[in-house]
Amino acid sequence: MVDVVCLGELLIDFVSLESGVSLEQAPSFQKAPGGAPANVAVGLAKLGHEVGFIGKVGDESFGHFLANVLQENGVDISGLAFDSETRTMLAFVSLTSEGERDFMFYRHPSADMRLTPDDIPKDLIQQATIFHYGSISLISEPGRSATCHALDLARESSLLISYDPNLRLGLWASQERAKQEILAGMRSANLVKINDDELEFLTGTRKLEDGAKQLLTFGPKLIVITLGSQGSFFYTDTAAGHVPGNALRAVDTTGAGDGFVAGLLSGLLAYSKPGEAYVFPGKAELEACCRVANAVGALATTKRGAIPALPTRRQVEDFLN
Ligand code: ADP
Repeated sequence: MVDVVCLGELLIDFVSLESGVSLEQAPSFQKAPGGAPANVAVGLAKLGHEVGFIGKVGDESFGHFLANVLQENGVDISGLAFDSETRTMLAFVSLTSEGERDFMFYRHPSADMRLTPDDIPKDLIQQATIFHYGSISLISEPGRSATCHALDLARESSLLISYDPNLRLGLWASQERAKQEILAGMRSANLVKINDDELEFLTGTRKLEDGAKQLLTFGPKLIVITLGSQGSFFYTDTAAGHVPGNALRAVDTTGAGDGFVAGLLSGLLAYSKPGEAYVFPGKAELEACCRVANAVGALATTKRGAIPALPTRRQVEDFLN
């Protein structure tokens, strides 16, 4: 039995060893485990929770490497499938001199896209408290049907459903399509986490309250917007607040948002009542959850790569004290 089930992409990021160069110029790359929902799963496991991951990788060296990383970090991989016909998703990433991330994805198709409804472990979802997903598994079939099937199961069992769209425009057929489908994906969610750029893309405004209010109309009860070093903002029908960030010297912000989600869900788990539908706590409790989430996000920026930098509960407590 797990507290949280995360579903989505698990991939290898090949990160340019030199920064300030485009992918065209980059001479060498370092292999790093990645995939936002997988990072969230590891983040939660490091914070001491029981977590299961659902996804698909290739039945080859990279797929087995990723499965081992999840397992070594304490994630239940009984829901991870191996595909013998396609390979693990790869992403090549470099930080350009303008500070933008230059991405190139190998997904033509990759194993994660071939997750099917039959791959979804019903028991794992039915016994959990929170189900977390992203938008990348919603981009094409059969991954889309698999994600929707898992969402149906989560809804039937009254799980708290958490969504971090994690916009990657390059994976969508067009901007319009990305916007339309990401917003449609919110209809299944109780909680949506986005960053300020995604807020503007989805709602046309950077005004936090106005944007959050628009997103509530799609059905979620809680919108959380991350603001990089400035912290985060939460919004519900009855409460709103900005929780300031932590001053520190960031080394690599990859995975900060995923660390934030892990911290947030960890906090929200404390307010779940076994056997009852999840009800969000009030303003003071949501502030406390965002404070922990900010700390996890901040600590995630202190080392290169997403997974190596995700903190344990002890590290978070020490940091907050
Ligand atoms: P994303 O990675 O999704 O774009 P953000 O960059 O907004 O997300 O980061 C998520 C959270 O991590 C922020 O809300 C903040 O709490 C923390 N964080 C990110 N960057 C920094 C930073 N430079 N200094 C301190 N905290 C940070």
